[in-house]
Amino acid sequence: MKKNSKNSLNIFPKKGNKPAKAYKAICSELALDGNVHLDLGSFSTTVMNSYADKLILEQIGKNFIDYGEYGQTKKIHDRIIAILSGLLNVPNRKSINGTSTLGSSEAIHLALLAHKWNWKKRRQSLNLNTSKPNIVYSGNAHVCWDKFALYFDVEPRKIPVSALHSYPLEEILNSIDENTICVGAIAGNTYTGSIDPIEELNSKLSEINSKNNWDIGIHVDAAISGFVLPFLKLHKSQWNFSLPLVRSINLSGHKFGLVYPGIGWLIFRDAFFLPKDLIFSSHYLEKPIETFTLNYSKGASMILAQYFSILQHGISGYKKIIKNCCQIAQIIREKLSQSDYFEVVDEAILPIVVFKLKLNNSIDLNEFQLHLKARNWMLPVYDSPGNFEPEKLMRIVIKENFNRAMASHLCDDLINVYQNLNNYRL
Ligand SMILES: *Cc1c(COP(=O)(O)O)cnc(C)c1O
Repeated sequence: MKKNSKNSLNIFPKKGNKPAKAYKAICSELALDGNVHLDLGSFSTTVMNSYADKLILEQIGKNFIDYGEYGQTKKIHDRIIAILSGLLNVPNRKSINGTSTLGSSEAIHLALLAHKWNWKKRRQSLNLNTSKPNIVYSGNAHVCWDKFALYFDVEPRKIPVSALHSYPLEEILNSIDENTICVGAIAGNTYTGSIDPIEELNSKLSEINSKNNWDIGIHVDAAISGFVLPFLKLHKSQWNFSLPLVRSINLSGHKFGLVYPGIGWLIFRDAFFLPKDLIFSSHYLEKPIETFTLNYSKGASMILAQYFSILQHGISGYKKIIKNCCQIAQIIREKLSQSDYFEVVDEAILPIVVFKLKLNNSIDLNEFQLHLKARNWMLPVYDSPGNFEPEKLMRIVIKENFNRAMASHLCDDLINVYQNLNNYRL
């Protein structure tokens, strides 16, 4: 972190300002930020509607943790857990458990902690050593998996991917052992949106478990797809609690759950998978409360906004929105593929388009990105993950507020910017 004590803005102001003046000062600085309507790289929701905004503003002062004072909010929260448990096919609707989180990262950390605890308790009951837990996941996982391993002292066995879409299933299975707390799988990875072969992982892992008398489960990272796959006709195989070894799933409410940041959800297969000793009881507030989260206080607004989105859209609304986003993504894929300049590399399942430049040594994707920025488009460029020569990729996330007219402008700009750069080189 940089120190810049010379800048007077970095010093707690001696005297205050009138609210209007403080507001204006901040707004004028923020005018330099990007435009949320053109943020096509981020998966997170940037625009909701005016009723959602009204609800959020009205409820913004509530601290979710104070269940005693805000019992109705807690009831709605638990109702969302029940609704999402159903959406993800939990086998027993009478024994559900889960929690809201700040996002999928917190949800993944909590889920993996529960797996670690279950592993440890089982080992202790068998009088086996518990000093060397490991977790096995693929090299294209989100950074929050690495964070978990580091923060919670678990050896990461991160298996490199050898091609853009491949899940290194064999290598993953070869890397597990009696100290593996859990195997990770991703339904919709951050780089290309591809979905791991979770059904196959489930059946192979099940054989290995029974052969060795192990009890290794799967955590599915459905940050991106948790609110997409259930609403698509074409499921790419089974991926949720319909598979017996899937014990926990995270989803980002603030991605295709259609809510602003930060809201995520962790759902367990069964209440039984959340060890009781990870739940804390505290008595500082009006009523004693039980918590299983990394932080304590948090705003209630986004939880209520999630319920608003569920209630407003229902299954048919989510289906319609997701279908529309997927269709727009497909239009963009086709236009880009026809142009001769771009190669689309995503698997065309989720409403995201990932592409690279066709071989052209003189144009670099980072330079291309800068020129697009001059047209106000915000598109990320990143290296492909894996143990092959990295390729630069660009991603477009089609969100609810992005329409066909905008898609057409975007494609025109992508093509024009490319052509201009190319002409300039010749
Ligand atoms: C976004 C993302 C995460 C992290 O989610 P946050 O909600 O931003 O914390 C984890 N896994 C995948 C696959 C993601 O795309």
